[in-house]
Amino acid sequence: MTETPVDRYEDPHQRYSYRSTLIEQLRSGGGELNVGHVRVLTARTFGFCWGVDRAVAMVRDALEEHPGRAIWLLDQIIHNPQVNADFKEMGVRFLRGPFSESEKNESPDEESVVVIPAFSATVEDINMLNELGCTVIDTTCPWVIRPHRRTLKYVEDQFTTVIHGLVQHEETRASCSLIASQGGHYLVVADQLEAQRLCDVISGGMSRTEFLSGLPQNAYSDGFDPDQHLERVGTINQTTMLASETREIEAMVRDALQGRYGADEAQERFRELNTICRATQENQDSVAEMAERGPLDLLVVVGGYDSSNTKNLTRVGGGQFPSYHVLGPDAIEGGTIRHRSPETGEIVLTEGWLPARPFTVGFTAGASTPDTLLGDTVRAVLDAADLPMGTVVGS
Ligand code: SF4
Repeated sequence: MTETPVDRYEDPHQRYSYRSTLIEQLRSGGGELNVGHVRVLTARTFGFCWGVDRAVAMVRDALEEHPGRAIWLLDQIIHNPQVNADFKEMGVRFLRGPFSESEKNESPDEESVVVIPAFSATVEDINMLNELGCTVIDTTCPWVIRPHRRTLKYVEDQFTTVIHGLVQHEETRASCSLIASQGGHYLVVADQLEAQRLCDVISGGMSRTEFLSGLPQNAYSDGFDPDQHLERVGTINQTTMLASETREIEAMVRDALQGRYGADEAQERFRELNTICRATQENQDSVAEMAERGPLDLLVVVGGYDSSNTKNLTRVGGGQFPSYHVLGPDAIEGGTIRHRSPETGEIVLTEGWLPARPFTVGFTAGASTPDTLLGDTVRAVLDAADLPMGTVVGS
């Protein structure tokens, strides 16, 4: 049978270099392991998604297929420090972002190979690469292209796109630049608080000036005027947002338009498309299922601090149990855990985080987290619970 590129990148063995025997044992054992006084659960789905596997494999292929040529990434390939550091060690250069330090004064030329990350790229970057004439490898995840297509339709029909997303996230920046390049308007809302301000300005309860002055930088398109450009609204979301929050925001905006124009007319003025990707949705649903399977005494979520889907996994429990978003095993030092607070976004140290014995701990990992990091974190938690490493197989 002929192997197409897609067949190849769907091959789960692409994740070979980040394999963890402990995680494989948990996967094959129904996501449960009892070690002494600790019951370890893992979510039904977690870790590298199809799009990340594919992007990582494409960079590896570029290194093999273009020996002797400079391989550049526009920015992080995915939001995981270890994976980016591994590529840096293999000789990949970073045009910008936290891994670009050593090549600050260099840039790609026409002989270079430049990789577009899984999040896609802005129109400005794509134009820059075309003008340069270098070899471009585009790892944009097909799930990211779906909201892009929808925004083009909104622009064509003169709807302003409201994006449930994070202004600084590469995927949302790419969506915004695409809309702007077509002469359309956009507004980015990060959460229900920002959506409420949008609803207030739609319903006339907040002035145009007050609304605009309270928005973060780059959250709206040049020339965006709330009085003119909120008469027809279409929503999309960054593929990795919290699904339940997106549904709330869509309902809030629909209700605000109904309040202003009446139910019949609002139908013509509002469109929605849930563009959360399947992996994000399944990972979030799996945490909810695991919480029911528990009950959980705590949840540990492993992934990069700037990974949107990882951050949102920490919020799925909605405060029913303590949830700790950690970078990996080094976050755990005995009775102290270093983690990102989902409320403030700050990195904090929490002492006395382990519950009374016996306890059930749930684990999950973001779509950009290698299995090895999750496996090592499971071991670090067991160590902190005074369970000898030898009681757990693998590494
Ligand atoms: S998280 Fe979703 S959108 Fe992002 S790379 Fe994975 S499948 Fe694609």
